[in-house]
Amino acid sequence: MSTTPITPESTPQGRTPATTGDRSGLPMEALRREFPILRVPVRGRRLVYLDNAATTQKPQSVIEAVARYYFRQNANIHRGVHYLSMEATQAYEEVREKTRRFLGARDTREIVFLRGTTEAVNLVAQSYGRPLLGPGDEILITHLEHHSNIVPWQMVCRQTGAILRVAPIDDRGEVVLEEWKQLLSPRTRIAAFAHVSNALGTINPIREMTALARAAGAAVFIDGAQAAAHTPIRVDEIDCDFYCVSGHKMYGPTGIGALYGRLELLESMPPYQGGGDMIASVTFEETVYNELPHKFEAGTPNIAGTIGLGKAIDFLQEHGLERIAAHEDALLDYGTNRLREIEGLRLVGTARHKAAILGFTVDGAHPHDVGTILDQEGIAVRAGHHCAQPAMERFGVAATVRASLGIYNDKDDIDDLIAGLHKVRELFG
Ligand code: PMP
Repeated sequence: MSTTPITPESTPQGRTPATTGDRSGLPMEALRREFPILRVPVRGRRLVYLDNAATTQKPQSVIEAVARYYFRQNANIHRGVHYLSMEATQAYEEVREKTRRFLGARDTREIVFLRGTTEAVNLVAQSYGRPLLGPGDEILITHLEHHSNIVPWQMVCRQTGAILRVAPIDDRGEVVLEEWKQLLSPRTRIAAFAHVSNALGTINPIREMTALARAAGAAVFIDGAQAAAHTPIRVDEIDCDFYCVSGHKMYGPTGIGALYGRLELLESMPPYQGGGDMIASVTFEETVYNELPHKFEAGTPNIAGTIGLGKAIDFLQEHGLERIAAHEDALLDYGTNRLREIEGLRLVGTARHKAAILGFTVDGAHPHDVGTILDQEGIAVRAGHHCAQPAMERFGVAATVRASLGIYNDKDDIDDLIAGLHKVRELFG
């Protein structure tokens, strides 16, 4: 059976997509056609989707792979002796191998599938942190973290008596490395930091931070939620202990993500949740846990989502992360310069090494009003604290407007954003 292609109900808007305007060489016209949603009008206008840090749109190949699984392959995995179960198991495990290669891990046992970054942090906090930590131990994070890389550590500190230390950021939104180093001590058991900040766009010097933290005897956890779709990742070169990604931020489905964990550490950690699939044998007296990585995958996983994640990885690799990064860097420069034209606009997050995330405020206009006015023009941005309230507070704001770019964005999208912001200025100026 062949599945009917899933296409939007609308016809494409009359617009020739711009070329990249940079030297990345991404085939923008064909690439945009891979995303059915970009052809669906929003408020009667073409969609200008600039909310990629919240979630990315999905290419047809991902959507079809998920549909195809339910059309043709649906069965539970690992324990089945029948054809479909074996096929679904194979498809699921192939994605583990693909994810291993994508992240640069050495062994498929180091790749745990879970719901996403949030679940990964909670898993590591509870399975690695909780048994290890005691009063006087410290966890070192930074001021720019997403709430999901703050709250699980706070919770484990409360459970164990450990202390959460927070390294400051400067006015550009960069971690003050000297102070971060000062905070590293023999008491630091875990150093957790984002690869890329979702609110400020800052790219942290993760290799240097990892080397320093490990030399100080701490385990290193990296939140890669905002990095995976934008820059190549090699955990073997970074040499971190844990690294995690969310599928939905890398053109894959929601409800699926992956955690890389160094084999020795995962081996030593107790399971995060108990249930089916994570056991080798169960009696009422004693349960023997399954081997890695199944020990950490209790219950029926998101099989369709995992298969979709595999297609998202294919998509990223077909276009090439180096090219994607070059494209987004060029757009970031263009967008930054154009935003500076807007009177009363203040950029929040101007790190020297930055991903394509443009956070800003506009004098006299609440970020939510800016977001609503832009929405009337078919422009999707985010307005709020971006689950990074401490980072907002550091800049003296409760919220910002955030335009976050992805592979399919082009100069036309930026130009539409700028035109929308001129309207905001007319209304609020
Ligand atoms: N960390 C960062 C830097 C993020 O941007 C996000 C999502 N906004 C998360 C963690 C949480 O990811 P998820 O919601 O996919 O679990």
